Amino acid sequence: MTYISGQDRPEGGYEKPSGCPFCRAPAQTGDDSLVVARGETVYVVLNLYPYNPGHLLVCPYRHVADYTDLDPAETGELAVYTQTAMRVIRQVSSAHGFNLGMNQGGVAGAGIAAHLHQHVVPRWGGDANFMPVVARTKVLPQLLTDTRGLLAAAWPTNPR
Ligand SMILES: [Zn+2]
Repeated sequence: MTYISGQDRPEGGYEKPSGCPFCRAPAQTGDDSLVVARGETVYVVLNLYPYNPGHLLVCPYRHVADYTDLDPAETGELAVYTQTAMRVIRQVSSAHGFNLGMNQGGVAGAGIAAHLHQHVVPRWGGDANFMPVVARTKVLPQLLTDTRGLLAAAWPTNPR
């Protein structure tokens, strides 16, 4: 009830919560920025905790949780940017396949449930191994900033 009545309401309201990493990411432009591409209504950022190298997130700029909250322009651009992400990743890293998807709500596994994000996870034959099971760690042969540079350079200026 405290949450609903707004006692802990973040400064600026729910549209752009100051603590939301997906609201903050587009504003970061330095060398440590993981933003790959910026559209009109959506942007693309590397997942800070990737399952595989090149694991991207396509996010609306607007702080909305549910897929049904997207307006037609956002829905269209999210789809185009997901397709573009697949093309760019294939071009850069010859991915064999992809997992695409949105976890809707905390019970469905969304880490940051309040801000919608579409996962684009490249897959290669044999990429699943024993390390996550045995050592609870993942082997990533590439630095995130290097991955971002490769993908950003290959991203088309006007994806359609
Ligand atoms: Zn947000």
